[in-house]
Amino acid sequence: MCGVVGIFGHVDLRQIQLPLQLLTHRGQDATGIAWLSNDGIKVQKCTGSIGNMQIENQYTDVCIGSTRYPTSGSADDDMEKVSQPFVAQSRYGQICLTHNGNITNVYKITDMVNKKDFVTDTEFITYLIARMLDDNNGDIQSTIRQFMNTVDGSYSITCILNDKLLVFRDPNGLRPLFLGGSQSHFMASSEPISMHLPDMEFVREVEPGELVIISKDGVEADILVEKKHAHCMFEFVYFAHPSSTFAGKNVYEARMKLGGNLAKEIIKKGIVPDFVAAVPETSRPAAIKMAEVLGVPYIEALIRNRYADSRTFIMKDQKTRHTYTYIKYTANEHMIKGKSVLIVDDSIVRGITAQRIVDILRKHGAKEVHFASTCPPLISPCYYGIDFATRGELIANEKTIDDIRKSINADSLTYQTMEGLRDALQLKGLCTACLTGEYPTPFGQELVKLAESNIVSDDARHYQQIVNRHK
Ligand code: SF4
Repeated sequence: MCGVVGIFGHVDLRQIQLPLQLLTHRGQDATGIAWLSNDGIKVQKCTGSIGNMQIENQYTDVCIGSTRYPTSGSADDDMEKVSQPFVAQSRYGQICLTHNGNITNVYKITDMVNKKDFVTDTEFITYLIARMLDDNNGDIQSTIRQFMNTVDGSYSITCILNDKLLVFRDPNGLRPLFLGGSQSHFMASSEPISMHLPDMEFVREVEPGELVIISKDGVEADILVEKKHAHCMFEFVYFAHPSSTFAGKNVYEARMKLGGNLAKEIIKKGIVPDFVAAVPETSRPAAIKMAEVLGVPYIEALIRNRYADSRTFIMKDQKTRHTYTYIKYTANEHMIKGKSVLIVDDSIVRGITAQRIVDILRKHGAKEVHFASTCPPLISPCYYGIDFATRGELIANEKTIDDIRKSINADSLTYQTMEGLRDALQLKGLCTACLTGEYPTPFGQELVKLAESNIVSDDARHYQQIVNRHK
């Protein structure tokens, strides 16, 4: 997962800092920006978030930026080398792009570009677009249509092509992308939160399969390829900012509805907690709603350390995640001691955080700890840009719900049902592949079959080398 931004208009380059800062929740491993200068496209990258980057005071007519969350490239790679943006040269000019998502069929189409040693799928598609632009005699619509018909996976892209800003989104709409504007410039961004800036106004969502070209001649928008929509359910459950609205659904409201439906499962089990608490922050709207439905108080039993500012789930490896869980949450012992606690998290991926949370609550005197997940069990890998790439990483793939309960040492464990999820999100075009094993794109389906067959083919090995994320 990453956050991407694009700005068109004569602006101080430092104006890209604020929208990127507002997308930090989508990635904080590295940050990169690119802009059009008098000498062509310039790129600047840094490790960590945008706050670590010193940007020179200069003006540009078009710039893009990315906050990196590593779903492609290795954890051991040089962060600045694997982070975006990437630049390629075509006969029709320089191309530079940032990309949120994951390309699933890189291993099938590597021969379409001459460069062989690309480090991530984003670098690959930069070269691919340059090649397609040459093949299509510089026609942008034909190029991006060919790209959308060739590339499988998820992509929300901001791209500088000469003096234009191109903004486009995969035809399934797996990852979000939005447009905004002010008196002085246009903006495209992964989430509307980055448009919460003085003078900036949210305009609309970029449609799945749509290309928007912003140039000195104005704005041109076309839906180039239409496919069945498959909005990522995990954006609503976990990833997106609560103020965002995708496909007409507000994330905060969706999380409340998830909580309401989960509370019904708690009632069915006859569990009567003294209070409901959230694992801060994502699950708070769900926990508040659960408390309301159950008729018990909502209590801040766990306090998040605001200075341990990394999202545990995004961290590089299990050891790092485990250590950070210990410093990330502290317990409000006075409120916990002797109480039956219903603790709510957005999801259970590897089970490390859940285990630690139960441990914290017990150590601080909870009489009973009931654990609830607003997301149904995650049983299959995500090939579209969320960091659980193998089944082995997913605790629900290997264990029964009762075995998971025992391994996290909870008195009870309650998951959201698929019906509860669908009812809360009310979206026909929804990707739920990590819950069902049914992928919305052909190559997602092919990758999971390869994984199921345990065949390490040359294709799969190539995929692992090129696109697979760190373990
Ligand atoms: Fe989202 Fe899961 Fe689909 Fe990945 S597989 S895009 S996490 S719903």
